[in-house]
Amino acid sequence: MKTDRRMEKQVDWLKILIKCRSNLQKYIAPLLKTVNQPQPSLGIGAGGDTMKHIDLAAEKAITETLLDDYGLSFTLISEESGVKAYGSNPKETYVTADPIDGTTNLTRGIPFYATSIAVSTKPELHAVHTALVADLFHDVTYTAKKGEGAQRNGQKIAPSKETSLEEAVIGIDLNTYKVHEIAPRLTSLIEKTKHIRHLGANALELCYVADGTIDAFIDIRGKLRTTDTAAAWLIIREAGAKITTPYGKPLNAKLDPKEKVSFIAAANQTIQKKILALLKN
Ligand SMILES: [Mg+2]
Repeated sequence: MKTDRRMEKQVDWLKILIKCRSNLQKYIAPLLKTVNQPQPSLGIGAGGDTMKHIDLAAEKAITETLLDDYGLSFTLISEESGVKAYGSNPKETYVTADPIDGTTNLTRGIPFYATSIAVSTKPELHAVHTALVADLFHDVTYTAKKGEGAQRNGQKIAPSKETSLEEAVIGIDLNTYKVHEIAPRLTSLIEKTKHIRHLGANALELCYVADGTIDAFIDIRGKLRTTDTAAAWLIIREAGAKITTPYGKPLNAKLDPKEKVSFIAAANQTIQKKILALLKN
């Protein structure tokens, strides 16, 4: 435990994650020019999606920054290549990454995709202490450090104060083959709302709840990977917004590419309670 604290003091993780982000952006820039052309199939990633050249390049940029620029030892938990240990003390630090969240948006030219990186002392959501989600198209970076609030491009952020479901802008991810099971649980909620969205990069959509761009984001499919959720989980909490299970319980999960979560993220307790009351469990 003492070692962990010493490690965190010595290593400025926020600075390192920002460096990862800028290296990643440089690394993928040439690939962005050809990303709409047919890509070679690179197999299925650890998270279950088809890997694209750009996903692997983004992951490589993160790993190389940590290894070559900073000489760090860590366990990487990645949507693409799974769990990999690097260096002599890989169990002291866990780096959970979705190198590109929203690859479909990226390849189709929809300007909404991000990179998500979380650092923790254990492979558990609750142990995440530093987080970064970067909107790679609009040059917007969300960051958070445990106990120190959340920022958007260095400026402190706060969620919205909206409490009316009718006025609220609510993201709902319904991308699932089990839509006949999931959709009926959401009908009462959808009937009470006017503005439903889904933007296609869940880590970034969660940050939109953190900074008040939208008022809630719901994913009860049981399909979202913890690699997509880890960084935004801390950003949401540090911004002062709420994130719970669909039953209103604290959200925790193992950090692993195969581990899945369901959640309700909301700007404030009032709107969170209204959503929970309308969900059919
Ligand atoms: Mg991805």
